[in-house]
This record gives sequence, C-alpha cells and structure tokens, in this order.
Amino acid sequence: MHEQSRQTDVAVIGGGVVGLACALELAREGASVCVLERDRIGGACSYGNAGWLTPSMALPLARPGQIHKVMRWLLDPESPFYIRPRADPALVAWLFRFLTASRRGPFERGAAALVALSRFSVDAWEQLARTPGSEPFGFARNGLLSIYETPRGIEVARSTAALTERFGVPFESWTADEVREREPAVRGSQIGGLFFPQDAHCEPYPAVRALAASAKDAGVDLVENVEVLGVDRNSSSLHAVRTTHGRVSAKDYVLAAGAWSGSLGRRLGVRIPVLGAKGYSLVVPPLRPHPRRSLYLAERKIAVNPHADSLRISGTLELVGEDLSINWRRLEAIVKGARGILALGEPLGETQIWRGLRPCMPDGMPVIGRARGCRNLWLATGHQMTGLKTAPGTGRLLAELMSGRTPSFDAAPFRADRFGNGS
Ligand SMILES: Cc1cc2nc3c(=O)[nH]c(=O)nc-3n(C[C@H](O)[C@H](O)[C@H](O)COP(=O)(O)OP(=O)(O)OC[C@H]3O[C@@H](n4cnc5c(N)ncnc54)[C@H](O)[C@@H]3O)c2cc1C
Repeated sequence: MHEQSRQTDVAVIGGGVVGLACALELAREGASVCVLERDRIGGACSYGNAGWLTPSMALPLARPGQIHKVMRWLLDPESPFYIRPRADPALVAWLFRFLTASRRGPFERGAAALVALSRFSVDAWEQLARTPGSEPFGFARNGLLSIYETPRGIEVARSTAALTERFGVPFESWTADEVREREPAVRGSQIGGLFFPQDAHCEPYPAVRALAASAKDAGVDLVENVEVLGVDRNSSSLHAVRTTHGRVSAKDYVLAAGAWSGSLGRRLGVRIPVLGAKGYSLVVPPLRPHPRRSLYLAERKIAVNPHADSLRISGTLELVGEDLSINWRRLEAIVKGARGILALGEPLGETQIWRGLRPCMPDGMPVIGRARGCRNLWLATGHQMTGLKTAPGTGRLLAELMSGRTPSFDAAPFRADRFGNGS
C-alpha cells in the first residue's frame, strides 16, 4: 500500500470546537498547524449543543454534596442525570473519582478557573461575531434567566450565584411577577428567577463554522475524513500519527478528540479517564411569544435557546461511554419537562432531533496541558458541558503552555497529569 506522509509543526487530532480553537491560537502564534478530523469539522458534540455562552454556568460537574443525588439518579431512568447501573470497571472507577472529587476546596478553585476561561471565551466569541466578513452565528448577549419552581431550588442557586459573582459574574434576583412581566414566554408554577445579564447565546454549528473559517484564514489546514488510528512513539515522545491516509509527523501533537479521547488516548499511550455523557437537543418551531433570552428550567435541568426562527431545547446527561443510540424515554422527558414552563405546540411541529456525547472527566474539569510521560503530546479535552463557552480560552491557555509562557489563567486545575495519565 502506498502511504502519503505530511509534516507540520502541530497536528491537532479532532476538529470539534476545542480542537479548532487550539489550532487557531497556535496558528496565530506562527506555527504551521493541521487539524485531523475523521468525519466533518464540527460534526460531533460541537454540532447541536445548547449554544449557551454562559460563564454563570461554567462550573465543574463534580460538586460538594453530590453523593445523595447520585444515588437517587442511579435509580431513576427519567432523572436529568442518569447512570444505567452496569458492571463496567471504567464506570465504577469514574464514579468513585467523581464522588471523591466533590470536595469544596478543589471545587471552588476549579470553578474560579473555569469561569475565568469562560469569561475570556465569551468576549472572544463576541469579537468573532463582530469581525467584518465573519459568518453570522446568532451571537446575542441578552443574558440568561434561570427559573425556579421550589424554594429549596432557588436557595441553592443563590449560593452558587453568589460564588460565581465573586468571580466576576453579576446576577439579579427576579420575583415570579418580574419573570412573567419581563419574559412573557414563561408560564407555569415558577416562583422566581435569577438573571445573569452578561451571559450570551449563539447557534452552535454556525459558530463552529465561523471559528473554522477564522482558523483557515490564519493558515490552519483543516483535513476532513482522516481518522487517526495509532502512533509511532518511543518512551518519551511521539514521532508520527498513523491515519487512514498515511502518516503525519509533527513537532507537537494536540489530542482534542472529545468523548473519544479515552479510547484514542490508549492507542497513543496515555490514559485519560474521560467518559461520554449523552445529551439531546430538539429544534422546534418558534413560540408565541418567543423567549427574549436563554432560559434555564433549573429543577428540570432543561436549557432553552431562542434562535431567530426556532427554539432549541436541550437536556439530560447520561453516562454512556461512546454509545450514541437514542433513548426515546429520555427524549420525551425533555419535551414533557419543557411543556411545564413553555407553551410548546401540541403536536410539536417540525422538529430536528440531535444527540451528542459530552466528554466528561470525573472531577468535572477539562484537561489542558502536557500529557505525563510524553514530551510532545498535549491534551485539550474533557470539557463536559462547557466546551463551547470555554473553547477560545482553552486555545489561549494551551498555546501559552506549549510556548512556555506564563499562562493568563490558573492552569493548575486543568493539569493533564492529575490522574496520573502516563503510558
Ligand atoms: C445536549 C448538550 C448540550 C450542550 N450545551 C452546551 C452549551 O450550551 N454550551 C457549552 O459550552 N457546551 C455545551 N455542551 C458541551 C459541548 O457541546 C462540548 O463540551 C463540546 O462540544 C466538546 O467539544 P470537543 O471539540 O472537545 O468535542 P467534539 O465536538 O466531540 O469534537 C471531537 C472531534 O474529534 C473527532 N475524532 C474522534 N476520534 C478521532 C480520530 N481517531 N481521528 C480523528 N478525529 C477524531 C470527532 O469526530 C469529533 O469531531 C453541550 C453538550 C450536549 C450533549
């Protein structure tokens, strides 16, 4: 078989929003960069997510006081966070780490770092939206309104909002009447809301396309339909990656393969305890009246994003690994949940259904940095529910670490070797 080979300064594996943001930053610094994507750019988890750019919600998944909730979720197939009980050693190890990571100290440091990454990123998305010639992607900074139906729900949320406020994310408390008056699309038994005026939203796939176009303009070579299969390496560095279209050799490699980073990482010689958590989004016809801003139906854990001519409703988190099958019961639970607060059509009307795999680390923090035991392999993965809202910051942080500069963010909570991921 004839094999082609390609040479570049940096080969980024995975053309989702995170890989693209890293590629763009590295190219801006003068490196020759290629992105190797086995399918099409932005076609996986970055395609149909909720489209929220919300530092107010950029928090690690693992939180203090989680253990009782997890036990309840385990037993309820309609809960917003579902773990089908199964004898899977990777799942058991993941859950053990998840529960032990939910301590207040690491949570608060991680939260501060993620919020900082997200605030930087939302500004970067805004800048991209304003760049002359950039493809429009529905960027709007209209804020996020989080809606509560129980006194306990709003009380817990206020304490979390007070925490993110310390990290520079302001909020306002709205009464039930203020919610109805300012957001007439909301009905049902809500008792009040928290409003985060600096949050933004966008249409996810157009946003990724705009980012890809920007990376291409900066000189990045975007290569689709090329799958990375394995690697040539010695004990301390990679020489080349083997792909379906020959070898690619680079000075440095960035693994940004989302929920597949665990299985691919093993082939590259690193262990990354990332697990795919499936979620769904539905795009339905617009409401009358249509929401003015993003809404979070907090107790139902449903995200609502008003596009110009449609409504996107997203939710559920099911730890599944790499399984992309559709669980209709969970999809119906999202529609049923949204109907409790919004006047969705009955029947829904023309609907697009999408599902994706959030790459989740057990401590709920992305991994951004050099892989332990491999000099020229860098990791940018594990962004759980925050990949879109933290991608530009991730790119900036990774580029700073790769060039040995002092990082602009607290890099410690993202360290790639915190789980001992050597080969
Ligand atoms: C329902 C839902 C709602 C969400 N809402 C939000 C939100 O509102 N805001 C937010 O910030 N985040 C949200 N997220 C999370 C967000 O979508 C992810 O964090 C983000 O898309 C992860 O990006 P990524 O680039 O790491 O992964 P992906 O987008 O999955 O990209 C990884 C890429 O790697 C490629 N790849 C894998 N293996 C190989 C290989 N061997 N060779 C070459 N390429 C390979 C894949 O094909 C894929 O394109 C949501 C997720 C879901 C499921």
